[in-house]
Amino acid sequence: MSTNQSASTGSATDATSAAGVATANTSPGTADGARGLVEHWIAGSPTPGSSTRRGPVWNPATGERQAEVVLGSRADVDLAVQTAAKAFESWREVSVTRRAKILFAFRELVDRHVDDLARIVTAEHGKVLSDARGEVLRGLEVVEFACGIPQLLKGEFSDQVSTGVDAYSFRQPLGVVAGITPFNFPVMVPMWMHPIAIACGNAFVLKPSERDPSASRLVAELWQQAGLPDGVFNVVNGDKEAVDGLLEHPDVAAVSFVGSTPIAKYVHETATRTGKRVQALGGAKNHAVVLPDADLDFAADHITAAGYGSAGQRCMAISAVVTVGSAGDTLVEKLRQRAIDVRVGVGTDDSAEMGPVVTDQARERIVAAIQNGQSEGAALVVDGRGLRVEGHESGFFVGPSLLDKVTPAMRVYQDEIFGPVLVVLRADTLAEAIEIVNANPFGNGTAIFTGSGEAARTFQRKVTVGMIGINVPIPVPMAFYSFGGWKDSLFGDRHVHGPEGVGFYTRAKAVTSRWPHVEGLSDAAFHFPSSG
Ligand code: NAD
Repeated sequence: MSTNQSASTGSATDATSAAGVATANTSPGTADGARGLVEHWIAGSPTPGSSTRRGPVWNPATGERQAEVVLGSRADVDLAVQTAAKAFESWREVSVTRRAKILFAFRELVDRHVDDLARIVTAEHGKVLSDARGEVLRGLEVVEFACGIPQLLKGEFSDQVSTGVDAYSFRQPLGVVAGITPFNFPVMVPMWMHPIAIACGNAFVLKPSERDPSASRLVAELWQQAGLPDGVFNVVNGDKEAVDGLLEHPDVAAVSFVGSTPIAKYVHETATRTGKRVQALGGAKNHAVVLPDADLDFAADHITAAGYGSAGQRCMAISAVVTVGSAGDTLVEKLRQRAIDVRVGVGTDDSAEMGPVVTDQARERIVAAIQNGQSEGAALVVDGRGLRVEGHESGFFVGPSLLDKVTPAMRVYQDEIFGPVLVVLRADTLAEAIEIVNANPFGNGTAIFTGSGEAARTFQRKVTVGMIGINVPIPVPMAFYSFGGWKDSLFGDRHVHGPEGVGFYTRAKAVTSRWPHVEGLSDAAFHFPSSG
């Protein structure tokens, strides 16, 4: 792709993510990616915990096992939760203005370490550095939102609801809350959660993805440097065992989960059964609907960037294109040209637009999905399976792939492939395109490309999807809105960050108050009290 195209990740908010960046004082062993053993972070210190189980941390660009991560036991989880519960008792008493000051200090530190965090993300996830930087900056925006916590936690007050009686409400933290996060945004997705939870007065236990765990360690150090008391932010590394430990722990009050749909369902069911508040965000199949009246070059540029950016491993990546009427053939040809031009390379290569996928297992799954699509009768327009990156032949690379003439009955359409694969479906009308989008069980994001305000308005009103872009392919809401899909893309009733995040991490108290010396108060009555 041309340079100006590659500069656009298709994000709605690239232009607003303009925080300055300076590299400073990086912790040894973390700035250039993980080396050795990635431990937990409990009570303000690294610890291996009691578990002897270890998982591999790969370098997706080289295929090498570059580190190991501790896979925590239930005892490790218990230690982290007990530590957080103890820290919560004093953290909840810290004034909201003091908490805001720590958030501001954390904001400055994250801003200073954007490049350090991005390098760690690239080393373990594989995405190109500019993309990794973008993810950190989007996480930073949530920290900035949380800096306004004194304003966000203001309660309500009603004077004189009855003679001499006032009514008011305010919100309090829940206690120990847990975050369980996926590999694809190892900084941003946890930052959807912990800055708001902590600003609200909770203590936090993070269980990051075991595939790219190291960024969370640097984040923990930055919280400590910002003045957060030890024990308020903890990291337990691990897999299902650690997750189950959190879901079943009696002292965990709430769980925020982001990951694939089957695990999101499991987390929602299990943690709800154990009496916790749960928000569980799942997988996606995000459609871009393209009408014939759209600027098709603009649409093709943005769909290409949104489909292949981060090797298609974004929950808001466009993975299905629905062309309407005469847009079909022209758009497919434009997508073909752009797909073959995408520059694939290692994440640290400044000229690369797309890096490897996260593991060899992921690469094999994606390759098999392309093969299946072809066997099901789809037309393979661009085949990325044979792609090799010179000098990195063992890296986990798959090139951009494009399948046309796909139908809703095909597995290549139904499954979340989570790789650089775009499938194209054809519809005759906007109504038919909307039917296709709505019949899909996922409902995370969707976009329409059109020159018609009327068509866009019909689309935004009729689609059963949580986040909608109009000529914007990746409509990730700003931090001061809330992020969440519909249907199989979210279990639970609160979205993450923004106002719904504050609501999720707090609970309300409503107070009715009077002071008996006030003149004119009525006598105690045996009937149910009413105002007057
Ligand atoms: P994943 O579901 O495999 O893992 C997510 C988390 O769950 C990880 O911390 C992992 O350790 C844990 N986990 C995995 N298997 C488990 C099990 N059997 N029991 C308990 N816990 C388990 O997801 P992933 O591969 O890391 O991430 C990619 C997925 O996340 C995609 O489906 C993507 O769409 C989704 N995602 C969704 C959003 C969203 O906002 N809806 C955002 C990012 C990613």
